[in-house]
Amino acid sequence: MAYSYDNENIFARILRGEIPNDTVLETEHSLAFHDINPQAPVHVLVIPKGPYVTYDHFAGTASSGEIVDFTRAVGMVCAQMEVTPGAGNAGYRIIANNGSDAVQEVPHLHVHVLGGRLLGRMLPVFA
Ligand code: AMP
Repeated sequence: MAYSYDNENIFARILRGEIPNDTVLETEHSLAFHDINPQAPVHVLVIPKGPYVTYDHFAGTASSGEIVDFTRAVGMVCAQMEVTPGAGNAGYRIIANNGSDAVQEVPHLHVHVLGGRLLGRMLPVFA
């Protein structure tokens, strides 16, 4: 599978500092920032700094260091935003939209961390 990365996508521009972002967390290989159009009281995007289009692209080609860093960054964001289940927190959902069927708008891998309200079922039930 060949992946074609668009260097002008909006998250690439954020990573280059061309567009501002509301940073939650930055690590060696990852950046987390508030979604500009939040769907829940907590809505943070976590992205790898490398040029990966989708989760499968990242999982298949990123270094172990990048994968560990990204996975830990998602967990740190959940803790920092106080949505981890237990101890008074009620939980969260992580979503990564990949490709056109999933309506991925920005072609740079990102995980949505959503929480702070009851999120309902994962997907609408189709009749
Ligand atoms: P997706 O449909 O999974 O590709 O989601 C893309 C997300 O990026 C949406 O939730 C947008 O609100 C969000 N988004 C787009 N531009 C920005 C931006 N400049 N800063 C923060 N979030 C953004």
